[in-house]
Amino acid sequence: MSAWESPEFDQHEQLCCFTEPNSGLKAVVAIHSTALGPAVGGTRFWPYREDRQALDDALRLSRAMSYKCALAGVPCGGGKAVIIGDPATLKTRPLLHAYGKYLNRIGNTFCTGEDVGFSVADCEIIREVSPYVAGTDSGGAGDPSIHTAQGVFHGLHAVLKTRLERDDFSGVHIAVQGLGNVGARLCQLLHEVGARLTVADVRSDRSQRIARDFGARVVDADAIHAVEADIFAPCALGGIVNERTLPQIKVQAIAGAANNQLASIGMGLELQRRNILFAPDYVINAGGVIGAAEEVARVPGRTQQALGPIDARLRTIHERLLDIFSRAKAEGTTPEAMALRVARELIAAPAR
Ligand code: NAD
Repeated sequence: MSAWESPEFDQHEQLCCFTEPNSGLKAVVAIHSTALGPAVGGTRFWPYREDRQALDDALRLSRAMSYKCALAGVPCGGGKAVIIGDPATLKTRPLLHAYGKYLNRIGNTFCTGEDVGFSVADCEIIREVSPYVAGTDSGGAGDPSIHTAQGVFHGLHAVLKTRLERDDFSGVHIAVQGLGNVGARLCQLLHEVGARLTVADVRSDRSQRIARDFGARVVDADAIHAVEADIFAPCALGGIVNERTLPQIKVQAIAGAANNQLASIGMGLELQRRNILFAPDYVINAGGVIGAAEEVARVPGRTQQALGPIDARLRTIHERLLDIFSRAKAEGTTPEAMALRVARELIAAPAR
């Protein structure tokens, strides 16, 4: 089967497969679109069972990056790389250097960063041989979760206006699942504006700290989706809205940082039927990409442009969601379907 026949292909501009036998490197770099700027996307290091899965994953994730950047107003296109193998055994300095040298061949068209199995420390090693990497400790964008949490907070404000018809968080009850880098910061921001919190994490030390610092009520990790609150904010893993949990969800809206919160497209339609507003995850969790845009703009060959203060750029998540919610309502479609349509329009616009 050729790459062109992959269900994920979707008019990708460029696809590169790299092999370096001495280090065992096998990598795929997929560049979906550079219509809005040179592509950005992390590198995933994963023991795919078949090469085909690696190719499909690179194509699927790079297309998603195109949509995320377009909706976030970031002047970048979408790309993604995968390295095939178990990072615990295969990842070595020679392999990372070999990968970095291949990135140099692609040049300014693609800039990468951390992802599953690929850390900030790995980015630092690649930086020794290639400038086409962002998110490093040395002068890099730093911890993206700070901006992600701030962006989710702005997105929750749009949800509040649209579904609860309110403009302030005072007394609004929010159930937060997952109290890691993003979830814990989000709780702090919500506490500061007077929201009432119910929280859960599989790590009880984390939930106890949020209870102590922000007066949150703690529930079991397997009960948080069923809390009777105004908004449910998933900030743990994907797939939390599924056939089992859906009938137990009793909120007016779902909006959080976790990627792929809906287990299937059908879940989005079902939420709409139950009048539960859903904030598409790749729109509301784009704060990290927005924060990294400045560093990416410093990569050699990129156009240096004034991006404006970070706070104002993060607030665009609020405007973007308001627009998606109102257009989706007007056309009787789901926010996810509308987000996809708007992203495609934005990517197609420069070519017209
Ligand atoms: P993290 O690993 O720091 O935190 C995740 C937390 O969820 C951990 O405390 C973990 O114990 C908890 N958890 C795991 N399973 C759980 C369960 N079943 N119930 C309750 N808690 C559970 O991750 P993070 O950086 O805070 O990211 C959170 C989510 O947001 C992830 O889905 C991530 O992909 C997504 N995201 C993060 C960023 C970012 O900038 N960090 C950007 C975009 C999207």
